[in-house]
Amino acid sequence: MITRKEYESARRRAADLMRKAGLRISDEEEKTIEVVDFGLGRLDQEGVQVLTLVQTERISVKVLALFPFQTEPEHWHPPVENDPGKEETIRVIDGTVYFFVPGPDTLRKGFIPRGKESCYTVKNEIIMNPSSQITLEPGKKHWFQAPEGGAVMFSFSTVARDALDKFTDPNIVRITRIIES
Ligand code: ZN
Repeated sequence: MITRKEYESARRRAADLMRKAGLRISDEEEKTIEVVDFGLGRLDQEGVQVLTLVQTERISVKVLALFPFQTEPEHWHPPVENDPGKEETIRVIDGTVYFFVPGPDTLRKGFIPRGKESCYTVKNEIIMNPSSQITLEPGKKHWFQAPEGGAVMFSFSTVARDALDKFTDPNIVRITRIIES
């Protein structure tokens, strides 16, 4: 959970990163940026900020912002009824992203958040810079992280059902709870 004040401040920081990356975002859109702490209450370590540009029954386009040293936890997109699961392309717009998928352990630049070794199992490191992109087939585990400076990415995908995503960390709750004070 996260306080309203933390939520609003993270939303502003995320909008600043997106604008610095060259995206034009309206004030109305800024208000819709979703701040996701995955129920862990340590947003600066594990979390992501998401602006949804397109969300239909078939496709989804989002802008993701990571703060410096923030990690989007390891997850995968499972099948849902007749849908084999979300196929997703991540394209970096600004900053550097350390992206991790199944394969040989080449983790060098990135780091697993302290004390969370059991929650990060795929360690094939891909270093992504602006204009790098990667397409993930449904069900493939992945997590990613920004170093100093943070990062902004596009996520293009088939229909997103974020609430049904699966996470390695059993303590994760995908929907952010905001404490109104
Ligand atoms: Zn994903």
